[in-house]
This record gives sequence, structure tokens and C-alpha cells, in this order.
Amino acid sequence: DDQISALSKHASKIRLDDVKDGQERDKDKADRATSEQVLDQRTRMILYQMINRGAVSEVHGAISTGKEANVYGAVAYPDIHGPPVQRAVKVYKTAILSFKDRERYITGEHRFKSGADKGNNRKMVKLWAEKEFRNLRRIHSAGIACPEPIQLKLHVLVMDFLGDRKGWAYPRLRDATIPADDAEQIWMHLYIQLLGIMRRMYQVCKLVHADLSEYNILYNDKQLYIIDVSQSVEHDHPRSLEFLRMDIKNTGDFFRRQGVDTLSDRTVFDFITI
Ligand code: ADP
Ligand code: MN
Repeated sequence: DDQISALSKHASKIRLDDVKDGQERDKDKADRATSEQVLDQRTRMILYQMINRGAVSEVHGAISTGKEANVYGAVAYPDIHGPPVQRAVKVYKTAILSFKDRERYITGEHRFKSGADKGNNRKMVKLWAEKEFRNLRRIHSAGIACPEPIQLKLHVLVMDFLGDRKGWAYPRLRDATIPADDAEQIWMHLYIQLLGIMRRMYQVCKLVHADLSEYNILYNDKQLYIIDVSQSVEHDHPRSLEFLRMDIKNTGDFFRRQGVDTLSDRTVFDFITI
């Protein structure tokens, strides 16, 4: 059929190793510790459509399997004669999930006023993916280092891959290896860099990350990259300043543990908001 011909036309593939249907899953459930990364039929169809349109050409194994989403490595050929580029595909989970946690980000968010149907999981994940896509676009346009959003379809988001040429994703700041002989200076540099990012995000993007920590920042070569922005809120959200204080505390605590002589949370709050 036309999906198949589209596949062969672009000489593209989804590695079925990584993208199995339910039947295959049952078959090797026992020897597969990572069965959670299995994609459902709808998600597979979306990936095939994306392959059709060239956003991705190959989808590889999972970089991360989380509670709410899986992230897969992927490759695309944006220019047919050019080199391949690496991409990341974030697939929000439609099942299993409890969205209770997330309610506080939605209530009061004017971008959610229409379409938020808390009883409909599919609609909800689509909204989260949409929110992440738009937030990434805004953050990326403001010149803040983050994955560039490439394409969105329902609960599947394609973005820039943050990693090296061999396909290794940059580590989370939490897992970053900082050269010991220069550590003090680098941590200070990163702290100041993050304050600048948070201020820019607030003042230019009009956003508060709302889940900012060493887990949602990637690190490479003295550069921080902001990720995971589906829950980020507009600064006029009724609880945005509460979320901002939480972001300041979490990141401040982390840098204090690295031995950085940080500013007080209060001072940082003023720096960001004034
Ligand atoms: P969640 O925390 O909701 O599972 P994240 O957006 O934080 O989802 O992504 C989970 C992990 O996937 C990250 O910690 C990071 O290791 C990896 N990751 C996410 N986006 C990218 C990307 N664009 N490039 C490389 N790795 C990524
Ligand atoms: Mn995360």
C-alpha cells in the first residue's frame, strides 16, 4: 500500500527491533527489560507519516524511557544529497498515565482554555506535546540553547538531537563530568549562565520553566541546554511566580551542592523578574 511504497521510495526505515506491535511484544516480553518503549499502532502510523514527509528517516532505540514520555534517537536527510542529521523524537504516552499531577499547570493557563478535556487522555497528551512544541519554539527563537522543534503530530514531537556525532546524547547536568582542575571556575560559569537563561526565558519568552532542575538541563562543553518544557507556563499564569521560586530553589540547591557561592534565592528572584 502507499505507506509501504512511501517507505521504499525514501529508502527509509523504522527499525522494527525498536518499534514492535503488541503481538511481538508478548512474544519476547520475558527477555526484554525495556518493553515499555514499545510503540502502539497509532504512534507507529504517525512515525510512518513523518518518514513520508522527511522529518525523520530512521527511528532508532530509546534514549530515555520516562513516566510520561519516551525519547528516541532518529536520523533524517533534510537535503537528499546532503549528510544525515540526527534528531530526537519525543513520544508522549497516552496510556498508563495519571495526569493529576499536571492539572496545576493547566488551570489558569489561557492557552488551555479551549480543548482541555481532562477526561480524555489522548487529547491531553496531544495538548502537552503541543505545549512543548510551542514553548521550545519560543525559547529557541529567543536564542536560548535548547533543541530546535522540527515537527509535531498529535503526541509525537520531532526536535534537534542534542548530542555528539556518534549519536550519544549529551548528559544531564546532574551526570556531567566537569574537569576537576578547573571545576570551581566552570561551575561558577555555569551558574551565571543559568541565571541568564532563566532571566531571558522570563523577560523575553514570558515563560517560567516550572520543572527546572539538573535533570532537565543537558550539558556539553561549558554550555547548558534547556529541555522538557511541556509544563512551562506563561508568566501571567496565576501560579507562575510560585513555580519560578521552585525553579530557583531547585537549581540554587544544586549549584550550592557543587560548592558554588550562590546568590540568595530572593536576589535571584529579583534578578529574573525585575
Ligand atoms: P521526560 O523527563 O518527560 O521523560 P525529557 O524531555 O526530560 O522527558 O527527556 C528525557 C531524556 O531524554 C532527557 O533527560 C535527555 O537525556 C533525553 N533527551 C530529551 N530530549 C533530547 C534531545 N533533544 N536530544 C538528546 N537527548 C534528549
Ligand atoms: Mn525530564
